[in-house]
Amino acid sequence: MVALRGDGPLKLGGTMAVSVAGAESNVAIGLARLGHTVRWAGAVGDDEAGELVLRTLRAEGVDVRDAGRDPGAPTGLLLFEPRLPEVTRVHYYRAGSAGSRLGTDAVERAFAAAPPPRVLHLTGVTPALGAGARAACARALELAREHSVRVCVDVNFRSRLWSREDAAAVLRDWASYTDVLIASDDELPLCLPVDLGERGERGERGGPAGRAGRGDQAGRGDQAGNGDRSGAQIADQAAGLLNLGVREVVVKLGARGATAYTGEGELHRPARTVRAVDAVGAGDAFVAGYLSALLDGADVAGRLERAVTTGAFAVASRGDWEGAPTRAELGMLGAGDGAVLR
Ligand code: ATP
Repeated sequence: MVALRGDGPLKLGGTMAVSVAGAESNVAIGLARLGHTVRWAGAVGDDEAGELVLRTLRAEGVDVRDAGRDPGAPTGLLLFEPRLPEVTRVHYYRAGSAGSRLGTDAVERAFAAAPPPRVLHLTGVTPALGAGARAACARALELAREHSVRVCVDVNFRSRLWSREDAAAVLRDWASYTDVLIASDDELPLCLPVDLGERGERGERGGPAGRAGRGDQAGRGDQAGNGDRSGAQIADQAAGLLNLGVREVVVKLGARGATAYTGEGELHRPARTVRAVDAVGAGDAFVAGYLSALLDGADVAGRLERAVTTGAFAVASRGDWEGAPTRAELGMLGAGDGAVLR
């Protein structure tokens, strides 16, 4: 999507900065900055906004040869409205957009290339956009299975796009294809079979159910992670997913860091300490770091370490992806207050 970012209440007008946004493209850029080979198989309109999206991805080193240009639909649009220092409202204009009409052709092209990718990354945003996009994701999952490609899914539930029930109907199906599942604590029930998932959503073990859907707002002030969900409840739900065949369940906990659950047990990594200026994009940056370390062959501790580092870069910089570190910059976080790197 094209993203317009204002500097105050939208209804007052003013100027907006033009950029590009989207969960998958954020991850793609994050990985490319870290030196990985990345292909983005999305769709834009045959318009100048689409040109901006493709040009930006290309400039960041992301291969867009599989991307579709749809002459019959516009490129999606997103408005960011910083409303309070910690609360940004997001307004989507993507109904009927090229992205919502993504077809299986882009996916077929991506898998036709030799060699096939080592990892397929999908988010729960794409299937929420429409039946075509949902079918494209389903085809990607089948092709990944056929080619023994590891599948990473970031749940990224967006309440503005679909209900929890509709999301769960798709994501429960996806769980059996998923190797690495990345989610916020309140999103785990969406991927579990109905009995386990509903129990989680009612919060039977841990008090009230989790945070409200965050499709509406980004840059939450609470960032409290599992403050209202017990660790035992999250571990229980992660165990349910591991039983379904997911190999790694990674739970993002905002400013509290993240916890990974695998067959070997549970591993927590606190967040890196940074001055947070814009939380939008933290989750995508986190995924890029996690997958980067996975592609490098790092163990779960190494994956979490890089993920919390790239997540911290995102919250410390304005924009969805602009602050994503290169590999050489990864060590910069420990440089200390006011450090000048000469
Ligand atoms: P978004 O939807 O805004 O992209 P998310 O809800 O998917 O974010 P979060 O859990 O907010 O993801 O953040 C992802 C990761 O980024 C966290 O696990 C943590 O490592 C890092 N992070 C988030 N907030 C902070 C913070 N205030 N300080 C340092 N690191 C942070």
